[in-house]
Amino acid sequence: MLASTSTAGSLFLVAAPSGAGKSTLVNALLLQEPAIKLSISFTTRDPRPGEVDGREYHFTTVDDFLKRKTEGEFLESAEVHGNYYGTSRLLIEQQMAAGTDILLEIDWQGTQQVKKRFPQAVGIFILPPSIPALEERLKKRGQDEPHIITRRILAAGGEIAHASEFEYVIINQEFAIALSELNAIVKATRCRFAQQASRNTALFAQLGIHANPTI
Ligand code: 5GP
Repeated sequence: MLASTSTAGSLFLVAAPSGAGKSTLVNALLLQEPAIKLSISFTTRDPRPGEVDGREYHFTTVDDFLKRKTEGEFLESAEVHGNYYGTSRLLIEQQMAAGTDILLEIDWQGTQQVKKRFPQAVGIFILPPSIPALEERLKKRGQDEPHIITRRILAAGGEIAHASEFEYVIINQEFAIALSELNAIVKATRCRFAQQASRNTALFAQLGIHANPTI
């Protein structure tokens, strides 16, 4: 296993119930912050109309997914709404070692697993302004079959119950406000002592600043 030799990069874990507007927010953030690399997960779910293999997900079969899992290819993996999802271990460990900022769009189960490996990861939970608003968004999106939408609405309460495990919560009522809050979290995380010290070693040495072992 590769060690995370650098703390210069930040690892953002963004979770939400389906329909909270997570992907739209994340995509808008990535336009503002192109240095953040989005991790492309593996999934066994079918592609939605317009989704492209290797762009939204690496789409694969259950057999292939389970083989990769057995071989330890995933940093984390979980079954969500009846499909398997997983994050490539090698890619994340390489990018963390290189000091790259990375964002994972994963569920609460995956977040718990990643935090065991990278405790400094920053968890952000996106909430809808209400359950009816979430239902409305899921239906309007029109990309899933009605029985899949129902399944996701029923699962929302269970997912929201894990919001307290995340460092930050954003309520996606007004998109522009939610986006600016997400951006603020990114900027604040980059100003953490460990990140600044790791990015600015020469300056810190020159100023005689030493690492605080308690942070
Ligand atoms: P969707 O099918 O709508 O793209 O995603 C369904 C759920 O699976 C979302 O909560 C999404 O964040 C989660 N998910 C997507 N990729 C991963 C992953 O790699 N790992 C985990 N644990 N969850 C994921």
